[in-house]
Amino acid sequence: MKLLIAGAKVWDGLADAAFAADVLIEHGAIVALGTIPAGWCEGARRIDGAGATLIPGMVDAHGHLSFPVVTYAYQIEDTPPEETVLITMHNVRTLLDAGFTGVVGAGSPKLRSEVVIRNEIEAGRIPGPRLMASTPTLTATGGLNDTTQFHQGRDVAAMVVDGPEACRRAVRIGYREGVDIVKVNVSGDDFFPRPSGRTTTLAEDEMQAIGEAAAALGLPISAHARSAESIKRALRAGATLINHADFADQEALDMLEAARDRVFVAPTIGYYHSLLHDSPFDRATLDRMGVEAAMAANIETHGALRRRGVRAVIGGDYGLAWQPNGTNARDVEHFVTYLGYSPREALTAATLHGGDLMGQGAGRIAEGAPADLLLVEGDPLADPGLLAQHDRLLAIVRGGLLHKAPGLAA
Ligand SMILES: [Zn+2]
Repeated sequence: MKLLIAGAKVWDGLADAAFAADVLIEHGAIVALGTIPAGWCEGARRIDGAGATLIPGMVDAHGHLSFPVVTYAYQIEDTPPEETVLITMHNVRTLLDAGFTGVVGAGSPKLRSEVVIRNEIEAGRIPGPRLMASTPTLTATGGLNDTTQFHQGRDVAAMVVDGPEACRRAVRIGYREGVDIVKVNVSGDDFFPRPSGRTTTLAEDEMQAIGEAAAALGLPISAHARSAESIKRALRAGATLINHADFADQEALDMLEAARDRVFVAPTIGYYHSLLHDSPFDRATLDRMGVEAAMAANIETHGALRRRGVRAVIGGDYGLAWQPNGTNARDVEHFVTYLGYSPREALTAATLHGGDLMGQGAGRIAEGAPADLLLVEGDPLADPGLLAQHDRLLAIVRGGLLHKAPGLAA
């Protein structure tokens, strides 16, 4: 299919301002940009972009696509694989409807649920974003997501690994089953009574074994790392994406800066915002979880990392009941409100950086780049909150195919 988006302002993912240009798309890629000779556009479907801004499609770097709407503890564990696959299928469509043309999985509760959905999307049989399918989270016994209850034979939604051999094996199993990225919990999380976010649960030799096995197989690592030591351990093992990083100390900040050409950080600030403003928890519970103190630490860390030039990506644990999949674009405004980003910088985090993390050339508008695009009514560089309003997303293009456009049947 040949597609022409004409008359829009174009923002390429990085520039300070949008510029007037037409964009021609063919065979899934952007083939021309600017003033395009009429002859080139013959046979193209034309979309009128007047009054709108064309930007790269957004990338959520911390997707929980397999989460049901969680209403009780152990619900994720209780959900059978078949239902999990269907939930994932519905959620990838929801993300694409919300303007996300790329998602990086942040721990699939079942080993193959994201893998099969990625395969169906790539085959063109179901709509969805580019998807990096994740392993279940690799965690040590007693670590975050090890929800084993000793008296029950219940399955957990994680791969529980102890010792370097088990760590290597889990990475290799993920590779064999087709994942694109390894998710590992290096620290705990204050959302649960224990281990806390300041506790580092995975040992140095375990993290190193994961790093070596993943590197040998060409798999990137996404690390849940709240404690200072967990950040350092993940970096020493070659992790590509550091999630949260709340309690980074000076040494961790220095290490992140030193690795800034290869590493990305996901502040997941939306997680805290939603806990405070949208969750059902009362003040006493939020205080017991230390939400405000952790959020303050997160804001300090990611303000510092912004000033140090470390690339951030959006994604804030969307998929929880009080911040459902589809509301992920709220993170863009949170970057401005909480982390000191300019709207342009926040949009770059939402597009270019996410695209670079995924490594498939998307996240930008340039000749030769994959055509993952979003036509937004108005100017998101002036008002990034527009991106969270689905009726403002006039057209959504994924891999050169129109997912949404004026006049296109749903
Ligand atoms: Zn998460």
